This record gives sequence, structure tokens and C-alpha cells, in this order.
Amino acid sequence: MIKEKILIIEDERDVLKLLKYNLEKEGYKVLTSNNAEMALSLVRKNRPDLIILDIMLPNMDGLEFCRIVRQENQVPIIFLTAKKTEMDRILGLKMGADDYVTKPFSVEELIARVQAICRRMSVLPSIISQKPSRSGDIEVDFDRHEVRVKGKVMSLPPKEFELFKLLVEADGKVLSRDHLLEHIWGYDKSAEMDTRTVDQHIARLRKRLRSARHQIITIANRGYQIKFNDDAPAQRSSSSPVKKSTSIPVKKHS
Ligand code: CA
Repeated sequence: MIKEKILIIEDERDVLKLLKYNLEKEGYKVLTSNNAEMALSLVRKNRPDLIILDIMLPNMDGLEFCRIVRQENQVPIIFLTAKKTEMDRILGLKMGADDYVTKPFSVEELIARVQAICRRMSVLPSIISQKPSRSGDIEVDFDRHEVRVKGKVMSLPPKEFELFKLLVEADGKVLSRDHLLEHIWGYDKSAEMDTRTVDQHIARLRKRLRSARHQIITIANRGYQIKFNDDAPAQRSSSSPVKKSTSIPVKKHS
């Protein structure tokens, strides 16, 4: 089983060694760099699947590195930093980080976050490519605007496809009716449009999804979420050239 390639950028040797050791123990392929300049050429040459990035680095800092990388690709980035303030967190996420861990941190927690992002990537191909992805009975092909249920193509009208795509991208998070209205219909408060529009489209979407209709869940008073079948690990379609592990165990904290 080939696991993801992770690039760690960190100028503290002990932290770098600790992370490399633990990620390799989990089966990941690990690249390291103690400065952002060298890391940039590693990103371009080796195309890591995920980056763990320290912010306070000599010369070019992590934020600047993140800004440059984001102009080139959408590889997931986890910031690792001693800067703790809320402002730093907001700034980090605005710069395009996918997650944020503050020092001192627990290695177990960081690995759990790495696994969560990798799991998300395997059902969310739009982040790294436009290859089809499959989870449970549903397969989504973002390129062809196609949804397949048990291999059968379900044609979705544009609004239903957008609705479905937003739910898939939210990866199980509940999306409110207002959020969906705003993002799909460009909801303007003055417009004569209400949240029943969303309900109607959800009903149509479910109808089109047939046997997978139960994967769109209504959460009372909150909105909608998509539930992937956890018994069937997320899988890339066989046409995908990207080597990914098909199932990444997520540590259960009891
Ligand atoms: Ca540092």
C-alpha cells in the first residue's frame, strides 16, 4: 500500500526528526527541508500530497512560502507554529492553509489531522486533481459533471449538480439552507427567494440519486449534509493515475 508523500518544512531539527520518524512509522513517504527556498524546489520537483509547514523560518517565512505555493497548486498545507493568537490563525487560513497546529503539539494529534486531510483528499479529488472519486455507492466525476450510483450515470441538472458538489466538498459538514442559497443562487436578501427553493432542489437531487438518496441527510433546523458509507472505504477509480492508499485508518480517540 503506497501512502501519501508528505513534505515537512521546519528549521528546528528535533521537531523535524520527531515528525519524520512518526510519519514514516505510519507508512508515509517523508521529504524534509529546513528552509522555505529549498522546499519550493522540492514542491515543484517531487509534488508532495501534503505539506506540514512551520511559519517562523529563516529568510522566507512560512506565510510567504504558502502564498507562492498557492499560486501554483492546491496541495493541502498544515501550519505548524508557535504563534498562537487568533489573528495568526485567521491569517494562516486566509493564506490558504488547510489546518493549523500550535506548538507545543501532540504528535498523535498532528498525525490524526494528516490522516483526516488525506481521507478527505481521497473523496475530494477536486483539491488535487479532477479525477473521479468514489465513496460508498456514489462516484463523482467533477470533470464530466457526472454522478454515478453503483456505476450507473445519473444525469443531474446544473443546480442539482452544484448542490451535490457543495455537499461533497463539505465532507459531512452540515450546510445551512442560507449557505446553499447564497452559494448556488447568489442569494440577495432583497430577492424573492426563500429557503424552500433549497428543499425543492434537495428533493429532486434525492430522486435522481435513487438508491443513494439516503446519503443526503436532513438535519432538523440546521440544513443538509452528505453521509458517506463508512463501511466502504473511499476509493479512487481505477482510471486515476494518482497513487493513493485506498483506506487510511483514522485513529479513534476514546
Ligand atoms: Ca521555526
